[in-house]
Amino acid sequence: MNFTERVQNLSAEGAYHMLARAQAFEAAGRPIIHLEIGQPDFPTFTNIARAGVAAIENGMTRYTPSAGIMGLREAIACDAGQRRGMEIRPEQVVVAPGAKPALFFPILALVQPGDEVIYPDPGFPTYVASIQVAGGTPVPVPLCEDDDFSFDLSAFDAALSQRTRLIILNSPGNPTGGVMPLHALDHIAEMARQHNIWVLSDEIYSRLVFDGLTVQSIASLPGMAERTIICDGFSKTYAMTGWRLGYGIMPEALAERMELLLTHSVGCTASFTQVAGISALTGPQDAVEAAVAEYQRRRDVLIAGLNAIPGFRCRTPQGAFYAFPNITDLGKTSAWWADYLLETAGVAVLPGTAFGPRGEGYLRLCFANSVSNIHLALKNMAEAVVHSAAEFQ
Ligand code: PLP
Repeated sequence: MNFTERVQNLSAEGAYHMLARAQAFEAAGRPIIHLEIGQPDFPTFTNIARAGVAAIENGMTRYTPSAGIMGLREAIACDAGQRRGMEIRPEQVVVAPGAKPALFFPILALVQPGDEVIYPDPGFPTYVASIQVAGGTPVPVPLCEDDDFSFDLSAFDAALSQRTRLIILNSPGNPTGGVMPLHALDHIAEMARQHNIWVLSDEIYSRLVFDGLTVQSIASLPGMAERTIICDGFSKTYAMTGWRLGYGIMPEALAERMELLLTHSVGCTASFTQVAGISALTGPQDAVEAAVAEYQRRRDVLIAGLNAIPGFRCRTPQGAFYAFPNITDLGKTSAWWADYLLETAGVAVLPGTAFGPRGEGYLRLCFANSVSNIHLALKNMAEAVVHSAAEFQ
């Protein structure tokens, strides 16, 4: 069949592919520990779920404005502004069904054929897919393990060109859990200002940071609000992946374009989901804090356990809920190891290459899973590694 160039090269997200494989094993009666898919294992916090149910019962079941109901846009402007130490107007906020549209639509609105877009490798696969659909040229910049998976700044400088239209950042990052240090953000902001480049800052994990760390948004640096799109949402922070609720924060003229794209694609975000979102932001935040403390506890168990397996070397992620161990000492490819661990250890993980060529030599493990499952996964993986050494000597 003939397809347009813009969809011809699209590929699936590795996480969904591995989930399907793991589920096939389960259907055949094999128990699998799921460390592949990146979502909280907690149910949506009770006050939020109740607000959603009440909204349906109260008839909040109709279309809303494409950019979202004003009460939610106001709540987001207030919350996001306070957290980032900047003033945000509700008109700058566009609500969407998930954070993904807040990546995809701004890229569609800003990038056209001939434009180059810098993005992190390894990075969230939607970046490359969106750049491709927009007809732009993806320009990967490697993340440096030695620098806690921040941008390699000399590679970043070399990647800049007259045609650079947009820089995509993701901190804390998927798949590495790395947080970009302020000096890197300062440098990128300086280049963006000098060369008049837009920045798309994916901050979906900004509430999931550990050891008391605070993260800074590049949008809050001088002269950056007018050239930055913040992408954020409710999926990870409030355990709401299936509700589909996210948002973008951007200059008003761009927000109007994004609103039009929403009008003509999805129409609007589900109305009761938006009402639940207001409760999430304005209600108590102790469930979020408890979840972060629990993720940190699980992180510590997983990282210590991974580093005890011969051939695994894993830095301690500062944010998100992913470990990204280096397995180059084990030989063989990441994809081989992901398959082997699924088949031999019954543990589903993702190969680093699901996030770009620079992910070779790494695996991604999501620690949004119980401590007992993490212990069992570690034990099974350690045995599989010993087994592979005997089998493939
Ligand atoms: N950005 C990153 C870095 C992610 O990891 C994800 C989800 O995994 C998203 C955006 C999309 O979030 P949502 O499910 O709200 O669309």
